[in-house]
Amino acid sequence: MNNFDELRDFVVVGSGGGSMCGALVMRSYHKDVLILEKTEFIGGTTARSGGVMWIPNNRFMKSGGVEDSFDKAEAYLDAVVGDSDNQPGATRERRGTYIREAPRMVDFLLDQGVELNRVAYWPDYYDERAGGSEAGRTVVARVFNSNELGQWRQKLRPSFMAMAGPLDEMLLIPNFKQSWKSKFIMVKTGLVNIFARIMGKHLVTCGAALQGRMLQAALREDVELRTQSAVSELIVEDGAVTGVVTVKEGRPWRVGARLGVLVNAGGFARNQAMRDQYQPGTSVAWTQTIPGDTGEMIQEMMRHGAAVAQMDTFVGYQTSLPPGSERLDVKPGVQGMTASPHCILVDQGGTRYMNEGGSYMAYCQGMLDRNKLVPAVPSWAVFDSQFISKYMLAGTMPGSSKPASWTEQGYLKKGETIEALARQISVDPEALASTVARYNGFVRNNRDEDFHRGDRAYDRWLGDFTHKPSQTLGAIERGPFYAVQVYPGDVGTYGGVVTDAHARVLKEDGSVIPGLYATGVSTASVMGRTYPGAGCSVGPSFVWGFVAAQHAAQAHQGGQPSRSIA
Ligand SMILES: Cc1cc2nc3c(=O)[nH]c(=O)nc-3n(C[C@H](O)[C@H](O)[C@H](O)COP(=O)(O)OP(=O)(O)OC[C@H]3O[C@@H](n4cnc5c(N)ncnc54)[C@H](O)[C@@H]3O)c2cc1C
Repeated sequence: MNNFDELRDFVVVGSGGGSMCGALVMRSYHKDVLILEKTEFIGGTTARSGGVMWIPNNRFMKSGGVEDSFDKAEAYLDAVVGDSDNQPGATRERRGTYIREAPRMVDFLLDQGVELNRVAYWPDYYDERAGGSEAGRTVVARVFNSNELGQWRQKLRPSFMAMAGPLDEMLLIPNFKQSWKSKFIMVKTGLVNIFARIMGKHLVTCGAALQGRMLQAALREDVELRTQSAVSELIVEDGAVTGVVTVKEGRPWRVGARLGVLVNAGGFARNQAMRDQYQPGTSVAWTQTIPGDTGEMIQEMMRHGAAVAQMDTFVGYQTSLPPGSERLDVKPGVQGMTASPHCILVDQGGTRYMNEGGSYMAYCQGMLDRNKLVPAVPSWAVFDSQFISKYMLAGTMPGSSKPASWTEQGYLKKGETIEALARQISVDPEALASTVARYNGFVRNNRDEDFHRGDRAYDRWLGDFTHKPSQTLGAIERGPFYAVQVYPGDVGTYGGVVTDAHARVLKEDGSVIPGLYATGVSTASVMGRTYPGAGCSVGPSFVWGFVAAQHAAQAHQGGQPSRSIA
């Protein structure tokens, strides 16, 4: 190797989920690691996220008495992901490695002092299928005082949550109008946060807690991280990746990597040209990802022969765009909205066409599929005055008066009757009235005969736990009636370079590009074209970072880590 400005053992491109996990593994082998991050913040979309990781058979399930096993998780992925061959990221070998390595990765992080636990109840998204877990397989970070990072606190990408509390509790807060328990948690969380501020703490939760704790562990282990250090090129010698070109003090800077390069640079949700090519009909205006999610590292790996797959797949997230949201980096997500009682989703002809619960990926894909038959992007969420008084709407509090601009600019449509509302949204009044009447009939019988909303535990979980007899079905019957548009937004793309069971990047012919590893949404997901449960983006990003670093360290030296990798 020559002509480098700097030589390291392992270089990681991007500071996403797997980056610091891989770096900690490398440090346990006494290898030095440099993480190069393009933006001014550490943490990627992972820091902005819920920070949930889908980890089957994890130790918190065992200690909580929740049954799981390798075989059960494998049966579940078989049932949900399946074996179609147009999803090379999701081979049986890779799925098996994921299920085996995921709990080991969690044990390794705990050993590194990263405090994690599980959400007690968050059903798998297809819990009714073989191997599904109703209690769920989620692992999250404990609330973190980001002031413990000292001067690095300013470099941790901020959370989307204004207040911090354990995720178990935060998930109950939106029901505060109906539940004393939720009211209590809301007040308690507020007081805890105020008290923490007085005591000089800055509490963060969700993805910011996860990445904050990872950053703390990485700094403790002398991992070097540089922000505003975009990687523009991979350096390839004799077909092997030996380093990267980044930028330092305003000039190109060549960094050699003795053991390899791990790309953890996110997806392409912020790149409209790539979306037009791979996901036509979707828009950067609907994404919740961070600005750095622009896909150039996927293109750079392709330039060196990497195969790509599943590029049409994205993690959909129901999104609404009230006036002013075009200026917001994080758009109002309305995921649980249409699965709440007193609300349905209809296409532009006023017809209901899906189970409004279920996985957000399947939901948004369902919108795009419907749009191939009849106009359905955007669709309309239709709800009544009970909904608006009880539940949050596009980031506003239940029962609160909505911004005047919402009606003035035509975002929130209103009618005293369903027929009047239909005219407001240019839908045939009879069609909408008949859709609502049919749905209300299902509510009365407590059974959605068309789309089975509420049959799954996950649908019910998305609804209102205080609503009886169904947590998700509630009649649309008390005027005035309302509608807002819903778009098939996203929290990230899900296709990218094809990797093997060691996270090595592969060419079209199945051969390995030596020295090049990849993880996270820069890769074709191990979950194929499905989203089996909460945490199926962040979990795999961590796990493949963990796998890649072990492989790179062991392949080059056959050494043993100094700390246990269980
Ligand atoms: C509000 C919200 C909630 C979510 N909740 C969850 C959840 O709870 N669980 C879950 O699994 N998923 C969740 N998601 C989706 C999930 O956050 C992302 O899919 C996931 O974090 C992607 O992780 P990653 O490690 O692949 O990349 P990222 O975490 O996005 O990190 C990639 C990093 O690489 C940097 N980068 C890009 N190009 C370069 C370059 N050329 N040089 C150097 N650096 C570069 C980027 O700036 C970025 O910092 C959520 C997303 C959002 C927006």
